Amino acid sequence: MKIGFVGLGQMGSAMARNLLTAGHELTVYNRTPGKADALAKDGARIASSPADAAKGVEAVLTMLADDPAVAEVTFGEHGIASGLPAGSAHLSLSTISVALARRLADEHRARRQNYLSTPVFGRPESAEARKLLVVAAGETAAVDRYHLIFEAIGRQTFVAGAEPWQANAVKLCGNFMIGSMMEAFGEAFATMRKAGIDRHLFLDVMNELFGSAVYRNYGGLIANEKFTPAGFRLRLGLKDVRLALEAAEELGSPMPFASVLRDHFISALANGQEQLDWSSVALVAARNAGLESSTKS
Ligand code: NAP
Repeated sequence: MKIGFVGLGQMGSAMARNLLTAGHELTVYNRTPGKADALAKDGARIASSPADAAKGVEAVLTMLADDPAVAEVTFGEHGIASGLPAGSAHLSLSTISVALARRLADEHRARRQNYLSTPVFGRPESAEARKLLVVAAGETAAVDRYHLIFEAIGRQTFVAGAEPWQANAVKLCGNFMIGSMMEAFGEAFATMRKAGIDRHLFLDVMNELFGSAVYRNYGGLIANEKFTPAGFRLRLGLKDVRLALEAAEELGSPMPFASVLRDHFISALANGQEQLDWSSVALVAARNAGLESSTKS
């Protein structure tokens, strides 16, 4: 399939590579140019703009940081909306707001283009290993048409509904669940330290109890305070919990835990954790308990 891909950050570059490996004809674009070079060596064409990446393709995929980036790349000058053929689709993989997903659906429809929200679960290592979970939403025919793309980037695809924004609601609530788990680990580990109990012992008990790869991975990162390199930057984590709260407010569904999480992400940023992984939000609970980071003590 002829595919355009815009946004070659940690996640996007791994996904674009898997599309190439699966045999798709790929055109790539990234705002900072050097990031496309490795893919070009392996056969991707480098586009001169997002519009150029969308020209003549069946689908253009975006994997960008946040709402402003997706809006600019889509609707800005030389944006993909101006290059994408009628009948082709924009698949948005980024974690964005439900409000922007609605705008994307409306504005692409007005241009007779399709739009699908297709956010993903999984960190950059999962993206490389083609183990992402894809949550897709939009018109059934369009979701079916692009199944080969989902198979090339992930291990399983879930269809959330016929309205694209529904997939974004799933993604935002899923990240809220992961954030809540990290907060819970932070609080429990702080209490364990004060009780003189080894965090790894506690983690072993929890792993046996929950039997979850997500608990195992994040619990290990937090127990070892391995917050660099940041697989998912803390500022993007704050973005996601903020967007979950926005969606919940609009839908009239209070999420008090999410409010606490948002404040702890703000506290983490205020304490200089900008460059750390989002799992470092667990350090907030340690600080609240009067504990130094154990890597410093
Ligand atoms: P990242 O490594 O920071 O990459 C962000 C990408 O967005 C880069 O290609 C960057 O271009 C581009 N970008 C940012 N602002 C832009 C703008 N104004 N115009 C054009 N391009 C812009 O982030 P990531 O970790 O790959 O995450 C990307 C998305 O996936 C986010 O929505 C995130 O929430 C979501 N996500 C991340 C993970 C994870 O574990 N990392 C997992 C699931 C979902 P430059 O190279 O020019 O800066």
